[in-house]
Amino acid sequence: MKIGIDAGGTLIKVAYTNGDLPEFIKFPISRLQYVASWISEFSNAKICITGGKAALLKTYMNQKAVDIVEFEATSSGVSYLLARNDIPVKAFILTNVGTGTSIHYINKGEHQRVGGTGVGGGTIMGLSKLLTGITDYETIVTTASKGARDRIDLKVSHIYEGSEPPIPGDLTASNFGNIAILASEGQLTKEELLASVVGLVGETVATVSVLAAGQSGLTSIVFVGSSFIGNDLLKEVVQRYTVLRGALPMFIENGEYSGAIGCLLYL
Ligand code: ATP
Ligand code: MG
Repeated sequence: MKIGIDAGGTLIKVAYTNGDLPEFIKFPISRLQYVASWISEFSNAKICITGGKAALLKTYMNQKAVDIVEFEATSSGVSYLLARNDIPVKAFILTNVGTGTSIHYINKGEHQRVGGTGVGGGTIMGLSKLLTGITDYETIVTTASKGARDRIDLKVSHIYEGSEPPIPGDLTASNFGNIAILASEGQLTKEELLASVVGLVGETVATVSVLAAGQSGLTSIVFVGSSFIGNDLLKEVVQRYTVLRGALPMFIENGEYSGAIGCLLYL
């Protein structure tokens, strides 16, 4: 048995195999100790760990494990998933929307971290709690999917009312910036608030990624991270905004397990 683990700020992602295709499982970070005892049942397993909580996880484990740099793991896992899905892209920006967002340049063997933003999946969780009191991930995602953003967000076309804007009117001029409406209209619904939170995160992540792509002379952007799990609205926002800004977005199945897969491949 081989086990690859990516212990991140919010979720522990595990990829394991007995020689066949890898299987995947995830746990909340609050179950770090449980994961250590779950792994201990596989006494002869080869184990590789990555992620910000790798060192902490190791303190609960009594087996040997190698640890590798998170980005090395993620980029190798993404290359594996792209090949497995017959996606031929070799040079691309890799954006990992985890608790926070990190952005990397990948060109065949070469790779480099180009930046990131603190706006990520954790922002969805935190702002959702502050604005609506909802803390359950699935409830946040399903509620957000039913909301409209036009009473909260200000579009470029709102500002350029009656005239032709110099940039697409559909771009958001100011997330949460529709102050005139916010001041004059009644209570906003949880659906509207959460849709706007997802909009803010999606547009920020897409914009920063597109700028990174432009800087590197690339157009393809591969988006991974658990923030996309069950969150079609986030995918739609990222997709639409990336295209609107001239780049090519890609999402890969099981992309959230790239770090864990990269660990598995290292063994
Ligand atoms: P980082 O890489 O920044 O250290 P991480 O690896 O833990 O963090 P991911 O697992 O990629 O990050 O993504 C975490 C995000 O995924 C959360 O912030 C949340 O938006 C979303 N998410 C998806 N499923 C869940 C879940 N069951 N519980 C909590 N958050 C979830
Ligand atoms: Mg992560």
